[in-house]
Amino acid sequence: MKVIGILALQGAFAEHRKLLEQMDVQTCEIRQKSDLLRQSLDGLILPGGESTVIGKLLRELDMLELLQRRIKEGLPVLGTCAGLILLAKHIVNDSNSYLRTMDIGVMRNAYGRQLGSFRTIEEFLGVGSVPMTFIRAPYIVEAGDKVQVLAQVDEKIVAARENNMLVTAFHPELTGDPRIHQYFLTMIEE
Ligand code: GLN
Repeated sequence: MKVIGILALQGAFAEHRKLLEQMDVQTCEIRQKSDLLRQSLDGLILPGGESTVIGKLLRELDMLELLQRRIKEGLPVLGTCAGLILLAKHIVNDSNSYLRTMDIGVMRNAYGRQLGSFRTIEEFLGVGSVPMTFIRAPYIVEAGDKVQVLAQVDEKIVAARENNMLVTAFHPELTGDPRIHQYFLTMIEE
């Protein structure tokens, strides 16, 4: 039986857990370094929230480097919204960067104030039409050669994959549609 770790320092971690449990997937909350050393972890979710807060806590709890290493070693990871920002190599409108494992450049709070939060339905490659909830979301402005674009909204990249890393600028845990999580579980099987 698979165990998916969910980084539970700040943000929308409980919603991922709820959805995965509805899908009969076992989860565990990752709150400290020792939780990351569990060999039984089959995948990891970096949830939405505030990337600056989550990033600061990862540093304070001395989890950043270990997390980076586990991802580089191949641990499958799903980063949503702030989680996408944490994985990005480069944040174009912020001098901070965190895990830097994924070859993407992102813009934080990219939709500005007026369009802070919105919902839409768009195509997700290999999945079909998917409802997408954006909350003060980033989008991807630069993607390396190895990055596969999975979804775009108004020509902006909002979902992508590079090897063991899957990212969405939207919150797939908030719509009740399990297909993005299912996609991630399929990715783990590969
Ligand atoms: N605006 C947040 C950030 O920059 C991300 C928002 C979210 O995760 N819903 O980190």
